[in-house]
Amino acid sequence: DVRLIEFSAPDLNYSPGDVLMVRPHNLESNVVALFTMLADNVTTSLGPDTIITVTEREPDMPVPRALIQPITLGQCAQQYWDLNVRGDDKTDIPVRFEMFLQATPHRYFFHLLSHFTTSELEREKLLEFTTAEGQEELYNYCHRPRRTVIEVLQDFSQTTPHIPLEYMFELFRPIKPRAFSIASSPTAHNKEVHILVAVVKYQTKLIVPRYGLCSNWLAALKPGDTIQAWVRGGSFHFPISQNVPMIMIGPGTGVAPFRSFVQERAAQGSARSDLLCLFFGCRNSAGDFHCRDEWLFLEKDEKLRLFCAFSRDQENKVYVQHMMKDNASLLWELVSTQQAQIFLAGNSKDMPKGVKGALEETFQNYGNMTQGEAQQFLERLERTGHFQSETWS
Ligand SMILES: Cc1cc2nc3c(=O)[nH]c(=O)nc-3n(C[C@H](O)[C@H](O)[C@H](O)COP(=O)(O)OP(=O)(O)OC[C@H]3O[C@@H](n4cnc5c(N)ncnc54)[C@H](O)[C@@H]3O)c2cc1C
Repeated sequence: DVRLIEFSAPDLNYSPGDVLMVRPHNLESNVVALFTMLADNVTTSLGPDTIITVTEREPDMPVPRALIQPITLGQCAQQYWDLNVRGDDKTDIPVRFEMFLQATPHRYFFHLLSHFTTSELEREKLLEFTTAEGQEELYNYCHRPRRTVIEVLQDFSQTTPHIPLEYMFELFRPIKPRAFSIASSPTAHNKEVHILVAVVKYQTKLIVPRYGLCSNWLAALKPGDTIQAWVRGGSFHFPISQNVPMIMIGPGTGVAPFRSFVQERAAQGSARSDLLCLFFGCRNSAGDFHCRDEWLFLEKDEKLRLFCAFSRDQENKVYVQHMMKDNASLLWELVSTQQAQIFLAGNSKDMPKGVKGALEETFQNYGNMTQGEAQQFLERLERTGHFQSETWS
């Protein structure tokens, strides 16, 4: 499930290669679940409308920007605390406890909870998770099935209503912004910014699927909704000269930064198929060929040379690295005689290794190099910015 999401952004300045940072909100169902649990405590009566003020106690721990103004607990639960991450995530630990808890960081969440419970049974279980012997069980309960904070709190229903408000800031970490390669050209799409988002959803042993926070929140936006986002420089430095040949390798959503770059060149009238080479990969030509019509049009218009690997369209899996090997003589010609620059973007799992292998094989076969020389040659290209990558998990 991949979405091309187009935002109207009249005040946003960006260039191809930049990244859009997005701060997501929690799923409404998680926010509702939190307040349902807190409502069980009749003495504190914490609700979404409760207004909270956060003040600085220690000079080296300033109040986060999002909390400088008084906000409602509802806003905090929706926009600040990450209710999606696993309860055993070590980033739950406040910095000042890191040294103290270095050996057992993931136990902190349960350690804290054990202080607030009124149930002996739950206290026993929580404390068990903080012992050395309890670690395997904690792993199987929490980490392996990717249990969310809310699910853990629901399991400890005699404890959750008694968490003091102040300690919620210790238990829940702030929502982290996510990066998305900008997929549009500022010239071709004036006052707009586009991103290509793979919606993260997967199954563990739990019946309820796991949902990536930001991608699902983005996918659920409706026309007219607004988001909090800003631009950050990416790791790509695209050539300023319009005569440098470019080899772009972007399977899946990895094609996003190249859409931005190629659109920009096309809008400036300098896109040429002898200079721009794109290796794209996906499962099926009819299924997840993102922005297919645009690419085919650019190819037909001789603005781009397009090589596509559709891994599931035939019996043998064909990936971008296979297409690169099939076109190795062209790659070598571009790299060796025209000082082409190579750009790689996308999933960091297996693809970058495969692509590097294909490049090294090309250098060996066409550049008459040994394996060691080919590796060194690739390293030199990386050092000099002739081979750049931006990959993510
Ligand atoms: C520079 C940069 C550019 C990026 N550009 C893009 C882009 O153009 N498009 C894009 O879609 N993303 C891009 N990303 C990735 C993006 O930032 C997010 O990481 C991604 O959208 C997932 O965020 P999320 O909040 O939906 O998921 P999260 O809530 O952050 O969950 C993701 C986590 O879930 C776990 N997970 C995921 N799948 C499985 C599985 N099958 N089994 C077990 N665990 C799993 C992993 O631990 C993973 O880290 C980019 C990242 C960087 C750093």
